[in-house]
Amino acid sequence: MGEPAIVLEGGVKSAFKDKVMELLPEGGNLNMCLTCGLCSSGCPATGLEDMDPRKFLRMAMLGLDEEILKTDWVWMCTMCQRCIYACPMQINIPQLVYQARKTWKREDKPKGIIGSCDQAIRTEGNSAMGASSEDFKFVVEDILEEVCEEQESCKNLVAPVNKKGAEFFLNQNSREPVTEPDEMVPLWKILNYVGADWTYGTVGWAAENYCMFAAEDDDWEQVVRNKMKAVEDLGIKSWLNTE
Ligand code: SF4
Ligand code: SF4
Repeated sequence: MGEPAIVLEGGVKSAFKDKVMELLPEGGNLNMCLTCGLCSSGCPATGLEDMDPRKFLRMAMLGLDEEILKTDWVWMCTMCQRCIYACPMQINIPQLVYQARKTWKREDKPKGIIGSCDQAIRTEGNSAMGASSEDFKFVVEDILEEVCEEQESCKNLVAPVNKKGAEFFLNQNSREPVTEPDEMVPLWKILNYVGADWTYGTVGWAAENYCMFAAEDDDWEQVVRNKMKAVEDLGIKSWLNTE
């Protein structure tokens, strides 16, 4: 028989888990696990890095803080929250993962996620791909013109930008205007069909927010505040956040 993979020495201390519980309403129910495994059965990150949500939680319960705070698995969790919906005890594993991410130094976090967050901070549209607001506006107007010309049923289609006082402010993932601009059109058609009064904005137009995934709270807040200010500055009632 081989050596055990994990050896518990002395009493169990769950410093990290206890700290996270203090932050969450009802302690995120972190002490209520039945070990049923439902969370892991539907998790897209199960099996990666030899980890899954149940195992991650069990390790936190057992005080294996060093192991869970250094595993790359925390960056493979998509924050989809499927585990919470599957869990009979509604245990907030994504927050446990998020708080683990927060303990990483910025320079050690995945470069792709941090780079996308940095781009969002640098651009007035908060585009993780670094797309400028001028380019976004140009692409929207160009695609609209093309669709109106080519599709008989779309002659009256609109895709306003910076329309003051509209009912809805719509945002858009940067990927579409940058790499798949035609993908913006179906939503325009739906909004047009239901007679919605909507607009894009040149400020805060990008829907994604990688600063959240990077667990950089200050940057996350800055991005959200910029987006909210854009909505308020145009005097718009509702923000349609598509992400
Ligand atoms: S939030 Fe993370 S741990 Fe939960 S199901 Fe999604 S990927 Fe898995
Ligand atoms: S679904 Fe909930 S109760 Fe079941 S193992 Fe996962 S965290 Fe524990």
